[in-house]
Amino acid sequence: MTHDTATVIATYSRRMRLRLLSGNEVDARIKGKRIKPVCGDQVVTEPIPNESDWLITAVAERENELTRPNMRGQVEVLAANLDYLIVVAAAEPKADWFIVDRYLCAAELMGIAAAIVFNKIDLDTDASSTAEELANYVRIGYDVVQCSAKEGRGTTDIGVLLKDRCAIIVGQSGVGKSSIINQLVGDATQRTSAVSGKTGEGRHTTVNSVMIPLPGGGSVIDSPGVRDYAPALESSTVAAKGFREITAAAQNCKFANCRHLREPGCAVKAGVEDDKISARRYESYKRIVNLTEQLSDGRYT
Ligand code: GDP
Ligand code: ZN
Repeated sequence: MTHDTATVIATYSRRMRLRLLSGNEVDARIKGKRIKPVCGDQVVTEPIPNESDWLITAVAERENELTRPNMRGQVEVLAANLDYLIVVAAAEPKADWFIVDRYLCAAELMGIAAAIVFNKIDLDTDASSTAEELANYVRIGYDVVQCSAKEGRGTTDIGVLLKDRCAIIVGQSGVGKSSIINQLVGDATQRTSAVSGKTGEGRHTTVNSVMIPLPGGGSVIDSPGVRDYAPALESSTVAAKGFREITAAAQNCKFANCRHLREPGCAVKAGVEDDKISARRYESYKRIVNLTEQLSDGRYT
């Protein structure tokens, strides 16, 4: 029996599309109930005699995982082995920066770089507050691109950031993720329709993801499972590590276990008062702390 390693490039519930080392793509199913491969996984696979399907027998150890709590409070893995996250916000629907921060928090905890892409600049009606938010993300070290997928402006800058990376693209529904991907792949195909198509399975049980190779090198994973997102954190104390400017300031807090909420001598709160830390980002941090505490309450009752 020949074994092969392969990359999971699309998931349809318990069925997968694999790219073998040879470059060939095959359909596969999973051996047993115990293993749960996701897009981006490296897997061990073998052909099934007299069938076109291959069988996935094992999943290699992951470098990282993008996770979220599902409705029962369990951790669900959305994609694995990423090295970049692109969070898209737009002029329409109105940018929700708290959602952007929840994704950035996840990227930070995964140890991967991230970009904020602001799309639909052909429409922007709230330009000054958008510029202020984007300038703050640049200040704390994130890549920021403004674009119009509709007009094809700015999208080549995204392609440059994605070169040689395996990225995931996330953001609220309607911000233009599919349009951006279509710009990036050019005329190649409209592969993104594979993701938005209905599967006939329960909307909350199935996450279909697809990894799209880009002509300029690199690839991007599109997953509807990330459209409404909160990170799965072990505990609320982890949240501060998801905010790089809070982590940096926290070194000067009076107490090593400072949570930056009501403690005296808190360098984070001082930073917010001095405008060195964005009050809005600090609010995002507090919301993630609250959210994590609510989830963990729910999990143990
Ligand atoms: P997704 O849900 O994030 O994948 O968003 P889509 O790519 O499906 O886009 C949602 C809607 O926004 C569609 O009607 C697009 O035509 C439109 N759209 C996407 N990019 C732009 C843009 O740059 N400017 C404008 N005005 N509309 C856009
Ligand atoms: Zn503090």
